[in-house]
Amino acid sequence: MSNEVEEIKKRLDIVEVIGAYVPLVRGGGANMKARCPFHQEKTPSFYISKDRQMWHCFGCGEGGDVFTFVMKMDGLDFRDALHQLAEKAGVKLPEFKPEEASERRRLLDALSLSQKFFAALLAEAPQAAHAREYVKRRGLAPETVEAFGLGYAPAEWDGLMRALTKRGIKPIDIEKAGMAVRNERGGHYDRFRDRLMFPIRDVNGQVTGFTGRVLQPDAKEAKYVNTPQTAIYDKSLALYGIELARQSIRETDLAVVVEGNVDVISCHEAGFTNTVAASGTALTVEQLRLISRFTRNIAIAFDADSAGAKAARRGLDLALAEGFDVRVITLPEGAGKDPDDCIRKDPEIWRGAVAGAVHFMDYLIASLTAHQDLDDPTVKKNLGQELLSEISKLPDAILKMHWLQRVGSLLNMPETVLMEEMARSGGDKPASQYASRPVASSQSPVDGAGSTAHSPLSTIHSPAPDRDHLLARIFLAILFVKPELASSVVFDLPAETLPEGDLRGLYTAAVAGYTQTGKFLPPDFEGQVGAAASAAGALARELLLLGERDYAALPTRDAETELRSIAGSLRESWRKKRLSALLRRMTEAERANDHVLVRSIEQEVREIMLPPQ
Ligand SMILES: [Zn+2]
Repeated sequence: MSNEVEEIKKRLDIVEVIGAYVPLVRGGGANMKARCPFHQEKTPSFYISKDRQMWHCFGCGEGGDVFTFVMKMDGLDFRDALHQLAEKAGVKLPEFKPEEASERRRLLDALSLSQKFFAALLAEAPQAAHAREYVKRRGLAPETVEAFGLGYAPAEWDGLMRALTKRGIKPIDIEKAGMAVRNERGGHYDRFRDRLMFPIRDVNGQVTGFTGRVLQPDAKEAKYVNTPQTAIYDKSLALYGIELARQSIRETDLAVVVEGNVDVISCHEAGFTNTVAASGTALTVEQLRLISRFTRNIAIAFDADSAGAKAARRGLDLALAEGFDVRVITLPEGAGKDPDDCIRKDPEIWRGAVAGAVHFMDYLIASLTAHQDLDDPTVKKNLGQELLSEISKLPDAILKMHWLQRVGSLLNMPETVLMEEMARSGGDKPASQYASRPVASSQSPVDGAGSTAHSPLSTIHSPAPDRDHLLARIFLAILFVKPELASSVVFDLPAETLPEGDLRGLYTAAVAGYTQTGKFLPPDFEGQVGAAASAAGALARELLLLGERDYAALPTRDAETELRSIAGSLRESWRKKRLSALLRRMTEAERANDHVLVRSIEQEVREIMLPPQ
């Protein structure tokens, strides 16, 4: 397998792979940085080295190669990450028997085959004529049908079951994938029958579930049937259309969120490709996290009069608390009941509605104050309470002030009174965006380290190391990126003068690597992949990226001066420690009247006291 791993690493650029998940900014040279997707931070401390094809976050200490990133980001095991990246890189993996595949892989295979089966039927099967007719009536172009992978589930009890078992898929896996239902006799039948099928795909385009729409207008069954919760489908995680919208969301720096799958398809067909749908009524934290990989701006269209409006507002509250800029799209009078309707009337109306989306607070103020007498004290009081409770949820102190001023002038009240009221009602959460985040559980305890990340002293994520540790870290970091200096400085710094432990071990290994291969790195460093990387490998990677971040641009002369000065300090510190240990032993030896030992210690002390050459 290691040949394939190497081939994948060669073909994929880590900067591109990670760039598909998080917005990147230049980090000096060929390096990039980003706000870490694994902990909350305001300033980027997540570094990617293009040369080394590695990443490291100096805020939370996570790091690795392209495999570790995908595993962590998408919650995959190594095998699944390998599959995903192999596909991306166009590397063919050796076949392995289906029963050896992980359950996740087996279910994904079952779903992928189901999608192909449904799509093939929709394309030309005689029994799907009414489905094709429906698609045509909706005005969906063949390219759209293809892009969204639409299909047709036949009006049979075992159409899919037969097709999949013929391909070697076990009935139990078809059931676990949510595509079949078990009957009382232990047999299985198709969950979806005579329906237009919308595959739901994850951000990487893998089918994780389906929505099936009924085709007979007089059918007694539910209009829509969804895949139930399975090991791989969780509707609170799914965002319909995200795999097609991600690029556009990043480019436009905006995610347009609509209610239905059909709305998404209409939007994409009309060229509004930054559109997705949440498959519930309220956006979840997980969905927001997914969107935040691409943008911090959301414009949401929801039917304010619908029963789901209250739930939708919960999602918006969450988005605000997560630090998103949230806007609300309102369709003008007579423009249709939903985006699909509106676009079919005139795409330009929809374009205008998206462009004219108002900030959620503005929307709230407008909807709460409509047809209200703002001079009526009771109205004023209720309105004030509702708006203040909303403002208190904002994560940002400046935003809070902004909206307090707005509400103040609206209600004709001094802001100070409103602030007092907000504090009194206990609604005012701490202004720190971290403290008020509802999803703080996954947060790193050293959050905010990113804000001072430019000093190497801020890169600590383990219990405060002493000065010698920090100096040794910097020494290694510089040498890793300036290996040409190794021959002249390692002589200055015997391994024993480094603090005992990982750093000394790494230094010894790197010196050994240097003598063996000419590279100042542990000899086995480059062969380490993904989760297989050892602790020493992880430390090497961290210091390598520290070097890339802070010292790669340093002129070699200055780097050498720095290395010599650090080596001097470490030697000096080592001498002092050694000396005080010897003096302690000497006192003991004198107390014991051991003159031979005293003399030998004296000799050692003299040697150490000699100034270094
Ligand atoms: Zn981090």
